[in-house]
Amino acid sequence: MKTYHCGSLVPGCDWHTRHEDEAEIIRRAAEHMRETHGETTIRETMVEAIRSRITKAEAE
Ligand SMILES: [Zn+2]
Repeated sequence: MKTYHCGSLVPGCDWHTRHEDEAEIIRRAAEHMRETHGETTIRETMVEAIRSRITKAEAE
């Protein structure tokens, strides 16, 4: 299980997600960036920024 906290990229945001699949986390994070932070274009640099901030989550 992996997790991503938007606050690691956008200070003050408490949105986070967790999933087995890194690609799914990036998809959800990109969607969140569009809907919540008004990013109309998700650039490759942003994808890389998200990817580099995905961390291993504790198993539940
Ligand atoms: Zn956010």
